[in-house]
Amino acid sequence: MEKVRKIGKYDVVVVGGGIAGVSASISSARNGMKVCLIEKFCALGGLATIGNVCVYLPLCDGKGNQTIGGLAEELLKLSISDGYKDIPQAWKEKGDIKKRKETRYKVEFNPVSFMLLLEELVLKEGVEIRYDTRFCGVIKENNEITHLIIEDKEGKGIIECKVVVDASGDADVCYFSGEDIVSVDANVPVAWFFCFDGKEVKRYVVGERYDPYNRDVKGFSVNTVKEITEQIIKSREYIRRKIEQLKGENPHIYPVSIPLMPTFRMTRRLKGKIELREEDEGKIFPDAVGMTGDWRRSGPIYYIPFSCLYGVKTKNLTTAGRCISASSAWDIIRAIPCCALTGEISGTASSLLIKEKAESFSNLDIKKLQKILKKQGVII
Ligand SMILES: Cc1cc2nc3c(=O)[nH]c(=O)nc-3n(C[C@H](O)[C@H](O)[C@H](O)COP(=O)(O)OP(=O)(O)OC[C@H]3O[C@@H](n4cnc5c(N)ncnc54)[C@H](O)[C@@H]3O)c2cc1C
Repeated sequence: MEKVRKIGKYDVVVVGGGIAGVSASISSARNGMKVCLIEKFCALGGLATIGNVCVYLPLCDGKGNQTIGGLAEELLKLSISDGYKDIPQAWKEKGDIKKRKETRYKVEFNPVSFMLLLEELVLKEGVEIRYDTRFCGVIKENNEITHLIIEDKEGKGIIECKVVVDASGDADVCYFSGEDIVSVDANVPVAWFFCFDGKEVKRYVVGERYDPYNRDVKGFSVNTVKEITEQIIKSREYIRRKIEQLKGENPHIYPVSIPLMPTFRMTRRLKGKIELREEDEGKIFPDAVGMTGDWRRSGPIYYIPFSCLYGVKTKNLTTAGRCISASSAWDIIRAIPCCALTGEISGTASSLLIKEKAESFSNLDIKKLQKILKKQGVII
């Protein structure tokens, strides 16, 4: 029989190096954990960088109140630290507080700069990154993940772990751990890309109109490679058509950057103890560990209950980012700031689980978690 390659032993293994995974790994490392971050591509940031989605949606409720702080705010500031854009004047330390009602606390960033900056930060925090590594299974004992199975250039291998954060965007760890998951096939072909016209670089958005509730448009899921490939190819057809049109106006216009990962908004997610819904607007859950506004409209506040972040059938599995347990509120929690927020919550909760020797995430001391998160700048 083939000998299994043992790769290492970590406190926390984070699967997926998107915004949620970056945030989860940094918060775990800052809380004293030995962390490994697995990423199948060769860069950090996920959709926000490799996918060219370069608008860091608001950290506020649109009524002048900040709803998200902590690492999400730190990453927003990092995203523009290359000088590409600035924070809205009203949201600066000495900004006009009254004007905050008129301006949302969001920025546009350069995805390539952000990618480089994220990597630098993650390494500085002592996280071990494993690029070009695909998570592909778990070894479970007594409802606990003991090892993750991965595949890389050297073949298959196993990584020993105490806790796992599923930040894969597609709930891959939940799927392989036997958790209940929900799959969505509402993903239309879409692409954000950049062209250089001889003078400046401009951003273009092409594709089909996105409407998560419109079942008339053919959507794609991540359930088969065939569907994933089809969505990618169809999205590229839109890019080609747009470039042809632009070249008709200016023959010296050239594409400089296109998405290099599938531009899926909603794919697979955990079905946790609680599924966050749009109707939960303003509802204060006893285990609330963070809050967010709604990027689409001013006013609403959503509290994030910890119960929508951890596995039901796996004691040491937590999720972060766009694959947490949210049903109709999915369109709100998938925005970049909220992914950074749930990453920070999961990473911090993972370290607490280990330090307190708690039996499972469902038994975690929520008051203690809330206290630590508040100290880190998370607004609850
Ligand atoms: C077209 C489009 C437009 C959007 N517009 C905006 C916007 O303007 N502003 C905004 O804030 N949000 C926007 N979003 C949403 C936002 O970009 C994403 O929801 C968010 O970035 C997701 O972060 P994440 O870390 O949860 O997941 P992802 O960014 O998907 O990261 C997951 C990471 O996990 C890795 N991974 C997956 N599976 C595995 C595996 N098996 N093994 C190893 N690695 C794995 C992936 O390679 C990826 O790097 C948009 C999304 C799309 C698709």
